[in-house]
Amino acid sequence: MSPIPGSGLAKGLAVTLRTMTRKTVTAQYPDVQPDLPPRTRGVIGLFEENCTVCMLCARECPDWCIYIDSHKETVPAAAPGGRERSRNVLDRFAIDFSLCMYCGICIEVCPFDALFWSPEFEYAETDIRELTHERDKLREWMWTVPAPPALDPAAEEPKEIAAARKAADKLAAQAATEAEAAADAAAQATAEQPAAGQPAAGQSAQDTRPAQDTPAGQDAPTDRPGPDVPTAEEGPA
Ligand code: SF4
Ligand code: SF4
Repeated sequence: MSPIPGSGLAKGLAVTLRTMTRKTVTAQYPDVQPDLPPRTRGVIGLFEENCTVCMLCARECPDWCIYIDSHKETVPAAAPGGRERSRNVLDRFAIDFSLCMYCGICIEVCPFDALFWSPEFEYAETDIRELTHERDKLREWMWTVPAPPALDPAAEEPKEIAAARKAADKLAAQAATEAEAAADAAAQATAEQPAAGQPAAGQSAQDTRPAQDTPAGQDAPTDRPGPDVPTAEEGPA
């Protein structure tokens, strides 16, 4: 059966019209940044203060793209007679993102919460060697890690927050006690001082009178007698 003349054109126009009415899905990146979900796997951030160099992440990484170097340090005993301890000190922590397959195993296995996903993805390089992010760069990514979601209202308070609040309450109580003691001391000092304009004990009110003003360059008036005035007995000479 031969096709109806012009049916192809009608079909094409129908497709065009149908597509025109649909919502566009074109992303205008980089002019408009994409709205990424909070758990996006963009890049891995290292919170090195939490890292104990246990090497679990490097061992479990399927691509062997985590490089860790460390050395041991001896920590002196905390108290006399105690035992010295040794601890690992991190020298190098690097992730080669040209090999990483973003599986997230390293983050899952880290027992000390030292690795986190950041949604940042704009770190393409023209040189593949630049995709090995060293410790400082991995630390910088931590600033882009989103805050964890809020706890369920009925959830138990995390022990870290409880401990921090206990310490803050203790400090606040200590500061309040010190402020109260300072206020008591100030009030006592004020009570011991004479009030302004009031004579101190053993001082007469006359002593506290301000001195009379005298013109500049003149002596203060004395009890000098006035000019000689003849008395009635003396009479004029
Ligand atoms: S995400 Fe996977 S591949 Fe990438 S560093 Fe971690 S464990 Fe290795
Ligand atoms: S698993 Fe965590 S604590 Fe252990 S070396 Fe890796 S990042 Fe550090």
